[in-house]
Amino acid sequence: MTLTFDIKPTTNPTSDQERAAKLANPGFGRVFTDHMAVVQFSQDKGWHSARVESRANFPLDPAAAVLHYAQEIFEGLKAYKRDDGGVNLFRPDANAQRFWNSAERMAMAQLPQNVFIEAVEQLVRIDRAWIPGGEGSLYLRPFMIANEVFLGVKPSAEYIFAVIASPVGSYFKGGPAPVSIWVSENYTRAAVGGTGGVKCGGNYAASLKAQAEAIAHGCDQVVFLDAIERRYVEELGGMNVFFVFDDGSLSTPPLGTILPGITRDSIIKLARDAGREVREEAYAIDQWRADAKSGKLKEAFACGTAAVISPIGKVRSASGDVLINGGEAGPVAMGLRKQLVDIQYGRSADPHNWIRDVK
Ligand SMILES: *Cc1c(COP(=O)(O)O)cnc(C)c1O
Repeated sequence: MTLTFDIKPTTNPTSDQERAAKLANPGFGRVFTDHMAVVQFSQDKGWHSARVESRANFPLDPAAAVLHYAQEIFEGLKAYKRDDGGVNLFRPDANAQRFWNSAERMAMAQLPQNVFIEAVEQLVRIDRAWIPGGEGSLYLRPFMIANEVFLGVKPSAEYIFAVIASPVGSYFKGGPAPVSIWVSENYTRAAVGGTGGVKCGGNYAASLKAQAEAIAHGCDQVVFLDAIERRYVEELGGMNVFFVFDDGSLSTPPLGTILPGITRDSIIKLARDAGREVREEAYAIDQWRADAKSGKLKEAFACGTAAVISPIGKVRSASGDVLINGGEAGPVAMGLRKQLVDIQYGRSADPHNWIRDVK
């Protein structure tokens, strides 16, 4: 399916001076660009009204389905400015495919993948002056909400798909600092047959209490265990997790109830390219503790689009603390991180064809 986007540049653009001030210290997710891309769906018209326009509030009826039954999905990807001034997207086709899968699970209208990519590219083109240089990037947030005005419980007949963009600085100044994580023993994130494998807002709503518990215990992030045995490591609130062993192999929890991260998938491929064994297998929290103590476990790290790779320095739970690699960032995590970031910024070869050059 092809849709032509109506491009309507804002009549009230941010001045160069104001934009430069915002880009000097963007933080994460609080500064936004001038435009948004929008595509609407209704049962009778299908996908229609594709446009790029001034970023503005949505007119939303108080009975819009999303406000009551949380039919909502989202994505996250980044645009990177290359040294030659060009712009790279990293695996946008994988985000488009995951968005399609998420919509299917949430009984929402499925957006054709070429339209998803076109919306992202059109927004990047019109707001390209907002892409920070150096180690910064433009975080892109495609999302879709159920917009039918009806309080009955059923899949909505109307949807709004939109993409907004937010310039972000380097996640870590002076290299990634190892994070401490809290093991959630009271709350789980996802059960078999549930929505753990799709990127829906509801998963995050259900994770916030556990994350708050982590912070109350002096930790940066929470790690969830499986919902049946409360034993096998699943993932963090918004990042997947990897383990590095003394024989050079890696392991990561298998897909199913965890979110199929594109960073996770990319790391598996890069590690295998380098000749490392990578197992997708269940890993128990008690084994994690034992392997960290015996030295069999060399490193652990979390991964996702926002932070790429964050080394895990400490695991804390009600039964005490365990340090990983003496609480320091390890060479395997840091090596993979550099490899991935170099591909994203176009500083090295792209053997898997992951880069899309936004012209
Ligand atoms: C988005 C997300 C990830 C990471 O996925 P990437 O595609 O690597 O950014 C991991 N876990 C959860 C719960 C997520 O929502």
